[in-house]
Amino acid sequence: MNLATHYICDDCHARIPLDTPALLCRACGGLLEIHYDLGRASGEILTRAAERRDIGLWRWADLLPVPPGTEPLHLGEGDTPLLTTRLLGDKLGIPGLLVKNDTLMPTGSFKDRGFSVAVGFARSLGVREAFTYSSGNAGASFATYAARAGIAATVLVEDVANDSKVAAISLYGARVLRLRYRSSLEIFAGVSALAEAGFYSFVNFINPVRHEGMKTYAYEICEALGWRAPDVMVHPVGTGGGLWGAWKGFRELKRLGVIDRLPRMIGVQASASAPLVRAFQNGQSTAGPHGDARRTVAQSIAGDAPIQGGARVLRAIYESGGRAVAVDDADLFEAMRLLGAEGVAAEPSAAASIAGLLRARSQGWVSPDDTVVAVVTGSAQKQPEALVRAAPPTDGVVSADPAELLALFGEPTASDR
Ligand SMILES: *Cc1c(COP(=O)(O)O)cnc(C)c1O
Ligand SMILES: [Zn+2]
Repeated sequence: MNLATHYICDDCHARIPLDTPALLCRACGGLLEIHYDLGRASGEILTRAAERRDIGLWRWADLLPVPPGTEPLHLGEGDTPLLTTRLLGDKLGIPGLLVKNDTLMPTGSFKDRGFSVAVGFARSLGVREAFTYSSGNAGASFATYAARAGIAATVLVEDVANDSKVAAISLYGARVLRLRYRSSLEIFAGVSALAEAGFYSFVNFINPVRHEGMKTYAYEICEALGWRAPDVMVHPVGTGGGLWGAWKGFRELKRLGVIDRLPRMIGVQASASAPLVRAFQNGQSTAGPHGDARRTVAQSIAGDAPIQGGARVLRAIYESGGRAVAVDDADLFEAMRLLGAEGVAAEPSAAASIAGLLRARSQGWVSPDDTVVAVVTGSAQKQPEALVRAAPPTDGVVSADPAELLALFGEPTASDR
């Protein structure tokens, strides 16, 4: 029972049938959102989802734009662990802290939630070639799913992307073009022109499907909490597709009567490049350009302007009673070490969840009895130079000579065997 019915324009509310690979509204250029007939839903949706764990996030297909008969484009994405913490929760003064570990996705970042669904949808409509722009992780995810779907992929890569991210995109078989630009605004003008000329785009929000995949955060988290929402969800924000998608998922579950309240959404940016945080602090509904994306280690959330002024992500933050917070690079490295001590290796942008939560907690925006889900969005392995910078120094050099090793190790610690 698939509940997706049509696209609807954010601005002029025009309705467009779902059987076309539509991007922006033809009438007014507005962003499209996919509409669902939630009134037709039955409890069966959740029961069926619970029974289909072999297909990861595709088990939620009834609540995604998946035409009947669509073969899941499934590479292992979804159903990532929701971890309790050993030390971190107490350290932050939030014993109910849970870490959603999306570093375990097929390409090492949460981007796979969106691309799995969006590329699968495009394939079902016969799209043969497409493009996106990327600071690295989106490009790798897009290239992977496009390769599996037989779609020819072009990735325009921002110069903040490190060499290993760029190499991965190329390894997955995409055409890779390094992008020259001064501000994100120039990138949006370029990619919008391509979309309007008829090239199918996977740029967040211009593509109306990517954030649909992000709704599965809400489904997985609430299911794991016994069909309850957390009090707070923390997510790093670049374009805001992750946060907006999760928010849409929570609202759907509330509408379906499955959960009885919504979480407060906290979005985190890097101080050097935090246009959304500035807009939030000024109470604005859209964000103008601000900051310099090249002055932070947080490649994946760096951008001096969010697409379409970040209107959707700001709306989610205001409506939910949440916050937008900024963190410095030093906070990101510290958060990487804190997460490392929990067995989770995050790239700097992903550790922003923990750094931002620390900030929100110290400002009193999160209380000790809150249940908080902090998403770790991407693996440290994706940004090896930052991993090396964040890690504590090693502990010296020793010879393999038994006597020297034994002398250095001293007495073994007693254990209860
Ligand atoms: C893309 C990305 C983000 C930001 O996601 P948006 O949907 O653009 O807000 C955060 N963390 C990582 C690791 C990413 O790759
Ligand atoms: Zn319109």
